[in-house]
Amino acid sequence: MGALMAGMLDTDLFLAWTEGAARAVRLHRDRLTGLDAAIGDADHGTNLDRGFTEVGKALTEWPPTSPAQVLVSAGTTLIRRVGGASGPLYGSLFRQLGKSLDTPVTLAGFAAAFESGVQAVERLGKAAQGDKTMIDALAPAARALTQAVQEGADEHKAFERAARAAEEGAKATIPLRARKGRASYLGERSIGHEDPGAASAALIMAALAEAAA
Ligand SMILES: [Mg+2]
Repeated sequence: MGALMAGMLDTDLFLAWTEGAARAVRLHRDRLTGLDAAIGDADHGTNLDRGFTEVGKALTEWPPTSPAQVLVSAGTTLIRRVGGASGPLYGSLFRQLGKSLDTPVTLAGFAAAFESGVQAVERLGKAAQGDKTMIDALAPAARALTQAVQEGADEHKAFERAARAAEEGAKATIPLRARKGRASYLGERSIGHEDPGAASAALIMAALAEAAA
């Protein structure tokens, strides 16, 4: 059973996404924590690593039967298990994404649901693009995904474009001054550092592209 049959996105693809995200966060844990050490409280990598490890455990213990179940389970686990702001923010992204999916999941349906998930993060974080948060990676990814769908791209191309937009968005946080979260207390001194939330969001979007590759 392939994840890419006839334009349908199946449960296995979303399980592969969460597993890939867990691996990427583990691999980049120290870099994420280092970024958070520069402008936050030095726990982003360890927090997310623990959270995605718990996501894997929950999905093994209660095997999901639909893409929506994968994503809602992942989101709920992240909210419960990840401290700080990033748990509720990522949790909301995955929960809203899952709740917004119609079955069967098409690429266009996923793109619309992803937009909805990113909007949930924006509402909860009261953040917009340019505030130097995970939104700086997620919002461009959502736009790239929607545009790719409109241009008739397949899921490989669409997820690659979303991942690239997220990576560029994360790098674009370096010269920004933080306007939200703990980093905003640093004022000018937040300039010159990549936002850890944007960096982890780029990793998570890259994991989606890899899962579909
Ligand atoms: Mg932190």
